[in-house]
Amino acid sequence: MSLTEEQQKRQHQAAIQIAVDAGVLIRCETHTDGVFSGSVNVTEAYTLANEQYSKGQLEGVFTLRRELLELMEKVVPEYRTEQCPLCVKESD
Ligand SMILES: [Zn+2]
Repeated sequence: MSLTEEQQKRQHQAAIQIAVDAGVLIRCETHTDGVFSGSVNVTEAYTLANEQYSKGQLEGVFTLRRELLELMEKVVPEYRTEQCPLCVKESD
């Protein structure tokens, strides 16, 4: 069974939120969609993802632990930039 666009969006947002909670990514104060690299090692995000999954906090969003971790590995590096990409765009 493949995921709907809505499910994919929820998973993507959940993955980013975990990284933000872990301090691996920082959410821009101006842009809710703008996240960029924090000072915490990226592995902390995977640890927190595992923890939240184990506690059942991601029930209904991810059905497999592997699915969650694969998405984290794909999504988090995309946002490992020094500044919020939206702020950078505006200052051009
Ligand atoms: Zn910004």
